[in-house]
Amino acid sequence: MSDHHAVDVAVVGAGPAGLSAAVHAAESGARVTVIDQTWHAGGQIWRHRDRAELPDEARALMARFEASGAQHLAGTSLFDARPGHLSVLGPNGSLELIAGAVVLATGARERFLPFPGWTLPNVFGVGGLQALVKAGLEVNGKRIVLSGSGPLLFPVAATLAQHGAQLAAVCEQAPRGRVTRFAASLWREPGKLAQAARYRSTFRHVPFRMGTWIERAEGEGRVQRAILTDGTRRWSVDCDMVGAACGLIPSVEVGMAMGCDIVNGVVAVDARQQTSVAGVYAAGECTGVAGEDAAIVEGAIAGLSAAGRPAEALYARRDRGRAFAARLETAFSPRPELRDRADATTIVCRCEDVRLDELRAEWGARQGKLASRAGMGACQGRVCGAALAHLFGWEAPRVRPPLVPVPVSALRPAEPLRD
Ligand SMILES: Cc1cc2nc3c(=O)[nH]c(=O)nc-3n(C[C@H](O)[C@H](O)[C@H](O)COP(=O)(O)OP(=O)(O)OC[C@H]3O[C@@H](n4cnc5c(N)ncnc54)[C@H](O)[C@@H]3O)c2cc1C
Repeated sequence: MSDHHAVDVAVVGAGPAGLSAAVHAAESGARVTVIDQTWHAGGQIWRHRDRAELPDEARALMARFEASGAQHLAGTSLFDARPGHLSVLGPNGSLELIAGAVVLATGARERFLPFPGWTLPNVFGVGGLQALVKAGLEVNGKRIVLSGSGPLLFPVAATLAQHGAQLAAVCEQAPRGRVTRFAASLWREPGKLAQAARYRSTFRHVPFRMGTWIERAEGEGRVQRAILTDGTRRWSVDCDMVGAACGLIPSVEVGMAMGCDIVNGVVAVDARQQTSVAGVYAAGECTGVAGEDAAIVEGAIAGLSAAGRPAEALYARRDRGRAFAARLETAFSPRPELRDRADATTIVCRCEDVRLDELRAEWGARQGKLASRAGMGACQGRVCGAALAHLFGWEAPRVRPPLVPVPVSALRPAEPLRD
């Protein structure tokens, strides 16, 4: 790579979408650099796992990535971005990456909606708990309540069961009717149906309760019980840990920083996966939550398009993924009752310890931030932003650099990336 304009295609995110984009761009002859803030390629779904455990398609994609000649900057965070210019901070300091085209593949994160007790020790996110278990957290013999939404519940419950946890309850907040209609539509995706059945078999002795959610978590010093409800009844379940979230939301901050249109909470893209900004493409869950297969095919289209190659042959497969995403959204959107759980003293912004009674619904995100500091902490609204949107309908405020916490020294005039 030379000193100036060194990269043809920069990819942000080394999950399934980013790896697929990098492979397709690099195999088309482009010089490609992939950055990811984590140390291992593979994104949320693959990075914790031994290569031997991965499904064939994942193993093949990882092998192609390693052979593709694409450069992988691991442990490197993007903290500022405009089209063609990426400011990143890695183990060796900050760099300015100048790219002919950019592919955003920044994935999704969990939607946390506050309820009394959600800040108690041993209350985690649903996917967050799975990530900790994969990283070595001991759950053998622990009684765990899972309260979440969407297909992520099944692999998480399976992981916990396989690690010896005693699942005390697995709760899906969406009403039975919505879940049943979604399940019936899965005949179009027999692979997903079979996968769901495999996961379910690992925790088959545990009831899967639809239309049920956690109302509060209680305990002295750590969570000891979860109060569950189905809207008419409420009951208490003793437990050592809780995994609670409400599905996933796309991570769109990098797209916002680049000036891309965000529509209905996702980075909007055209048929070629190009955003509203020329030369900036997006793929995977930042364009809508649809699972790993959709992320891979979208990444392929984005990578080919960024490298100036045609990708029409992949459109039909991608469109099936998009249709699946729309069905997921309809089935698993948060029910309104989840809004009523937080009481006056519930912490809403965990970074700044802002309680619900310190906020006024009429404020809007910007005034709320200025008046209470909600959204001003280390997560920069990534956690409380979704909660405030759900509780008050506040729009996410505009993002400002730095997108992730960085030392002041990283903000000095940056140097071009060298070989
Ligand atoms: C916590 C969690 C657990 C999940 N577990 C499962 C599971 O068990 N099974 C399943 O089928 N699906 C799971 N999913 C869904 C899964 O993430 C997707 O199906 C798939 O991984 C999406 O691929 P992606 O490439 O779009 O995004 P991701 O795999 O999320 O990859 C996005 C990557 O972008 C990087 N990134 C984001 N912002 C920046 C930045 N500013 N600078 C540098 N890097 C950045 C992230 O570090 C991440 O590695 C999970 C999702 C989450 C959020």
